[in-house]
Amino acid sequence: MRPAEAIRPFAGLEAAGGLGPHVPRPERLDATVQSLPGVGPKLGASLGALGIGTVRDLLFHRPRRYEPPAPLRRTCDLLAGEEATIEGEVEHAAKRPTRRRGLTIVEARVRDSGGALTAIWFNQVWLADRLQAGTRVRLRGALERGEFVVRDYDLGESATMTLPAPVYRASEAVSSRRLRELIGRTLPAVQDLHDPLPATLRTGLRLPLKPDALSVLHHPDSAVQAESGRKRLAFEELLVLQLGLLRRRAEGAGAVAPSLGPPGELAARYRAALPFTLTEAQERAIAEIDRDLARTAPMERLLQGDVGSGKTVVALYALLRAVERGHQGALMAPTETLAEQHFLTLEGICAKLGVRCRLVTSSLPAKEHAAALRGLAGGEEGLAVGTHALIQEGVQFRSLAVAVVDEQHRFGVEQRAALAGDRAPHRLHMTATPIPRTLAFTVYGDLAVSEIDRPPVGRKPVITRWVSHERSSEAYTRLHRHLEAGRQAYVVCPLVSPSEAIEARAAEAEAARLRDAELAGFRVGCLHGQLRPAERRTVMDAFARGEIDVLVATTVIEVGVDVPNATIMIVQEADRFGLAQLHQLRGRVGRSEEQSYCLLVSRPKEELTEAASERLQALVGTNDGFELAEVDLELRGEGQLLGTRQTGLSDLVFTRLRQDRALLEQARRCARDLVSYEGPLSEEVVRVFGDADHRGLA
Ligand code: ADP
Ligand code: MG
Repeated sequence: MRPAEAIRPFAGLEAAGGLGPHVPRPERLDATVQSLPGVGPKLGASLGALGIGTVRDLLFHRPRRYEPPAPLRRTCDLLAGEEATIEGEVEHAAKRPTRRRGLTIVEARVRDSGGALTAIWFNQVWLADRLQAGTRVRLRGALERGEFVVRDYDLGESATMTLPAPVYRASEAVSSRRLRELIGRTLPAVQDLHDPLPATLRTGLRLPLKPDALSVLHHPDSAVQAESGRKRLAFEELLVLQLGLLRRRAEGAGAVAPSLGPPGELAARYRAALPFTLTEAQERAIAEIDRDLARTAPMERLLQGDVGSGKTVVALYALLRAVERGHQGALMAPTETLAEQHFLTLEGICAKLGVRCRLVTSSLPAKEHAAALRGLAGGEEGLAVGTHALIQEGVQFRSLAVAVVDEQHRFGVEQRAALAGDRAPHRLHMTATPIPRTLAFTVYGDLAVSEIDRPPVGRKPVITRWVSHERSSEAYTRLHRHLEAGRQAYVVCPLVSPSEAIEARAAEAEAARLRDAELAGFRVGCLHGQLRPAERRTVMDAFARGEIDVLVATTVIEVGVDVPNATIMIVQEADRFGLAQLHQLRGRVGRSEEQSYCLLVSRPKEELTEAASERLQALVGTNDGFELAEVDLELRGEGQLLGTRQTGLSDLVFTRLRQDRALLEQARRCARDLVSYEGPLSEEVVRVFGDADHRGLA
């Protein structure tokens, strides 16, 4: 790595201003992006949609990959088709239309010491005005039919074309180029970052300072250097994760949960009430859970299995084990809507078994909410379904013995807030996006893993196709064929807004439109999160009884709706959804022996971001949740339109789990050393975990 000064291209600026040695001002990092010159409300909002609100967010926006440098050539030495960089001066520039409708080309005559050539840009009309005669340019591209087709460019003095160029997660509104420019301008602010790693640790491991790591990440001399920056940032993430685990283990050390003994009468009635026999994999998971529940050490188990593999059935078993011993169970989902959907699933079977089950969400009318809380505190209610707040915000249970945490869209287990006191429930975490058992062990340490590795028999993998808008009529033709054969279908509405109210209105409007257009003559129902649970149940029941042919829905169908006769799904504007979410949605079909289809409709590929195309391509390519989880880890961050802040594994922005195993081991060792370290811990470590905690953990 270069000496520190050299890799901070702007390090000298402040000193030159007479300020003397640099004094970090971390508060500057919290300045909004709109405080930057040239960033107005519109660009600000577009950046916001990418999750970038502050200068800090810009600095921590991870490059997805690097464009390898292209050799610098004189114009006279260019070879046709070879990717290269040229450097020269604009003589004149102009716009010209092309034969293809809607496309405009900007062309510029560029001269260097070897001669001159015509460089062309597609669809960047506004550039023509910036390419004034005399402007110095660096262009990267290739010579095609005598013209230099520009793929990337630099105007003025900044010159990075011959270095690896970071490619960022971008959107239609903000290109990767634009981000590169913005991040480049903000880069001096890395000086305001404080490095939380204790200096002895950092130097011992020969890790660069955090500001330097970010500098080389965004502005590397070489791929090797960029990687060293990434590793430094990844190390810190892993260290934080491992410290959290150690803390959790220490806090949970003395905790005691009720021992639930062997399964009893209610468990047996539950098995008998199921309309199927449990698979071998489910039986194995249940046996593992039973063993845990018999102990007084609280269970901490991860239940992983792909969408539709039958996890919920197992989770409900665990909840009922609490009830049959006179305790209570709680099921927690990431959002209220998902909680309501789970409630609808559980309610039916609980009624059959005579178990009282309550939904607790903040949107309940005050009276009902109060009644639910009383019922749980008094012990009249056996089961509660709610969001994660159910446990974290201190809802009182008379005796909570089993808590099931559904992590639905989260890749991995979140850092759980420890429960106060020395009593803790047994906990089962459900995840549909498994990570390999060995990796789970390394990342989560003490977490036990149960795996449902194959779905109930008699299912065919869903066939997934990706079609562009213009051909969506073909998708509806296929859907008609299914309906005419007596099958049912889903149409998933585009994700228009993080607001459920707006989402719901859009879904209603789309259902109305479809009734008059593509779905005329069929019975069309509409399901969204603004319906009250009872109304939703009515729609779902009608669909289950076959009284509705097509369910037009928002993502609320991702859990709970379970209709094997539904064999085809159309997802509109599929590029707007996250990978995990699409995988969940797709799980609603393929629930019988019939061949099922999932048709992803989007704008043409050329108009999508690279990551959006990769997501859709991945779904077409595989039904395997594990494989998709890996792809998502690579592309992560894209398409989080719902704005859900993810935790746990998802906080690993710079870490590449597969590549960074050695780093993970190192972080584990360091975390152990750190908690037994007696000197003052650095600010950030203290802020995150608390100084006393660490001392106490040794
Ligand atoms: P997951 O929670 O893993 O997505 P679910 O528990 O919701 O899966 O199960 C998916 C579907 O499969 C449900 O319709 C459920 O009733 C059904 N199912 C679960 N276990 C079995 C089984 N052993 N045999 C047949 N169907 C099953
Ligand atoms: Mg499920």
